[in-house]
Amino acid sequence: MKSKFWYILVTLLMVTSILLAGCQPAATTPAEEPAAEEPAAEEPAAEEPAAEEPAAEEPAAEEPAAEKSSVEIFSWWTAGGEAEGLNGMFKIYSELYPDVEIINATVAGGAGTNAKAVLATRLAGGDPPDSFQVHAGLEVEKYSPAEYLEPIDDMFDPSVFPADLLSMLEYEGHYWSMPVNIHRSNVLWYNKTVFEEQGLEVPMTKEEFFTVAQALQDAGIIPVAMGTKDGWEAGHVFEGMLAATMGADDYRGLWKGEVSWEDARVTEALEYFSEMMKYVNEDNAALTWDGAGEYFIANQAGMMIMGDWTAGWFASKAYSDYGWSATPGSNGIFVGLSDSFALPKGAPDEENAIRWLEVCGSKEGQEAFNPAKGSICARTDCDSEAFKAVPETYDYLTSAAEAWSTESIVPSVMHGAAAYESWTTEFKDAIALFASTGDVAGTQTTLQALCVDAGVCQ
Ligand code: BGC
Repeated sequence: MKSKFWYILVTLLMVTSILLAGCQPAATTPAEEPAAEEPAAEEPAAEEPAAEEPAAEEPAAEEPAAEKSSVEIFSWWTAGGEAEGLNGMFKIYSELYPDVEIINATVAGGAGTNAKAVLATRLAGGDPPDSFQVHAGLEVEKYSPAEYLEPIDDMFDPSVFPADLLSMLEYEGHYWSMPVNIHRSNVLWYNKTVFEEQGLEVPMTKEEFFTVAQALQDAGIIPVAMGTKDGWEAGHVFEGMLAATMGADDYRGLWKGEVSWEDARVTEALEYFSEMMKYVNEDNAALTWDGAGEYFIANQAGMMIMGDWTAGWFASKAYSDYGWSATPGSNGIFVGLSDSFALPKGAPDEENAIRWLEVCGSKEGQEAFNPAKGSICARTDCDSEAFKAVPETYDYLTSAAEAWSTESIVPSVMHGAAAYESWTTEFKDAIALFASTGDVAGTQTTLQALCVDAGVCQ
């Protein structure tokens, strides 16, 4: 086998260099590190194998200045729209710092369900990337900021970010990450062709939603396209329904222990969700959120409830035959979240990481990223003209920007803003289970218990 050959060769080289130089080899993990097996493993830098391994290949002394400077950026952005947006920022970074190699370390899986686990392991194991994606909000607590992160207060210009976002970002008196965008979680997408052909109106209420769903089902069309494969999607849809039945203030109150999870409106949200599951494609458990989106863009499904990264995904498919509204019943409420990038302590190339955060926080960086990503800028001074670069998202993002500035903003739980990660994870699992059991009473009891366990409810 080739790898065996290289392993023997490298081992010989190492042994020779030990004998000649009398020094210890730095690496105990030589050429065997192919990392290509599975993206979820510790070594997400699958893209570039050998070049990056300075330890084994060159026996040190030869070429002291040979190693190229690099920056490893860790995220879960692999879907259409996500990848394009990220590349937009990479392009700007490379124009500014052409000598720095960007290592795009991604771990696939919507909402970061896989990536977050890999990252926590890396941080705890003393193997941080140079910078990593984290949601603005309480999610940062998962990474024990005081222990593993550098505060970035000095790099932060609060005057360019909206107050709602700043309050999400501040944790224990510091800013720990640079925001790149604002996303909305509670969006209903509808297929314009299907709606026109069936003579349907956009549903604004829960009741209208089910009337439309029934009509679509009667016409042999999937009413609601949904993937539940990664375990977070049910919780995602449900949080929009919670906002719908609770209203903005009491939705917030649920996450602060001010409103009981035994409230009748939580029951109503659970019933709403479980009723919706009757109208979802049967193969949902086998599909990711974007996999399910294929039904939608093929005119085989009429609706889809998913965050507005879907607009970026649509654009990546050159698809624009869609309309949108809030998750029915949640009109006027913007369930918000923000992606940001943090600086771990001991980042292997801190200088390049800081430059990355500067690009993330810059007007140019955000104007390059957001139109493709399907999000609006975190900064308040982005130029709307820049958004015309991606025509498929332009109308939606114009309306999202308007909604962000006029509607009631509440924090998304499934995307790190509302609760500590441990509670979020339990919540996610409870709703994922509920999607298959439909057990309203049992799930509601669990939700209350989770709030108590989180130390937020009595
Ligand atoms: C992130 C988005 C991402 C989505 C799907 C969310 O948690 O905030 O940026 O597109 O997950 O992966």
